[in-house]
Amino acid sequence: MKVLVINAGSSSVKYHLYQMPRGDVLARGLVERIGEESSRLSHFFNGKTYTVPTKVEDVENAIELILQTLADGEVGVLRHISGINAVGHRVVHGGEEFTGSIIINERVIASIEKFADLAPLHNPPNLAGIRAAQRSLPNALQVACFDTAFHATIPKVAYMYALPYELYKKYGIRRYGFHGISHRYVARRAAAIMGRGKYKINAITCHLGNGCSITAVKNGRSIDTSMGLTPLEGVPMGTRSGDLDPAILFYLADKGYSAEDLKNLCNTKSGLLGISGVSNDVRNLEELAAKGHARAKLAIDVFCYRIKKYIGAYAAVLDTVDAVVFTGGIGENAVFLREQICDAATQIGVRLDYTANESAIAKEAEINTKDSQVKVFVIPTNEQAAIANDTYELARGRTFIPCALL
Ligand code: ADP
Repeated sequence: MKVLVINAGSSSVKYHLYQMPRGDVLARGLVERIGEESSRLSHFFNGKTYTVPTKVEDVENAIELILQTLADGEVGVLRHISGINAVGHRVVHGGEEFTGSIIINERVIASIEKFADLAPLHNPPNLAGIRAAQRSLPNALQVACFDTAFHATIPKVAYMYALPYELYKKYGIRRYGFHGISHRYVARRAAAIMGRGKYKINAITCHLGNGCSITAVKNGRSIDTSMGLTPLEGVPMGTRSGDLDPAILFYLADKGYSAEDLKNLCNTKSGLLGISGVSNDVRNLEELAAKGHARAKLAIDVFCYRIKKYIGAYAAVLDTVDAVVFTGGIGENAVFLREQICDAATQIGVRLDYTANESAIAKEAEINTKDSQVKVFVIPTNEQAAIANDTYELARGRTFIPCALL
């Protein structure tokens, strides 16, 4: 069975074509800078790369281009696009309705549309990807996998904000959490590496990329996570503030900042970039900090300190911790940050093997010492593989599978 995995964002569409159930990637690529003059397609197949600058107006165009490329006489890997049996779509927000992965029908589409209110930057392009794939591949099964779904097991005590209860009833204001496909994938991998069943692990999973979130996984299920109603809450990120005193916003509003200014400030001008004043990329910050750039060092220190606080909090809610897992661009690659974070987490029983940490770059590795009470893993995330797998499972005859079973 051939499964196409689509991750459609507002400015890029990423794709992976899988041969299932083996899980081989037949081709992958992305269309980037959608809507700009410099838009282009990069396509990887059989160890080769093919890049073409092409005018791509919108997500629909991007999907058409991807399908054309996959069935192209020279660079394609399919004789015809009808060779694609199923399409798995990453969808950011599934509200309270979607607690797992589901076969898409009109009711599912209507709900994704409804939740666009909570994820205005993400759900609309996700939906455009679904509609374009439905149009071009009318006979393929279409599946939605939600970033929020793994967090559906978070108990009410952890997802309620201490705001008037009516706001939860009226507007759905609560913690939803994100990066769920990634947290689930690495939690399952950690359990497998430890030789345990998927429900036999308590882990703190740290997805540290451009967006960063930390999840407490108890018996294989998410019981708390750092991102909230939106991906703005939690630890500081590349350009997002993470947690802050909400009164700062009222104070700035009194100083003349508009709601739009505040939204931009917290989402695009804060975090590592905001504190350092120079970069949102930890590679640059490490280099600058080593040369004595005080604010670059401060940005890194704040980032690590705030992650330490979440690890401590989640150790408290989990009672026992079997493993801490690092994933995402930072978690998989930034040796010095993992060291700083783990050195701050000795209280919960973490002991880092510094040599193992240094060689664990973009590969799966155990990086704790032999006498560490808590395992520490680097596990490159593979959201597309998780989506391909969910899609394959659904194609075998079910319409819905809750995350707990995936
Ligand atoms: P996204 O959340 O958009 O998927 P990634 O998970 O790829 O992003 O994370 C991107 C971030 O990861 C970069 O901004 C950078 O800070 C960090 N990063 C990527 N590669 C490296 C590396 N080799 N060393 C250290 N940090 C890295």
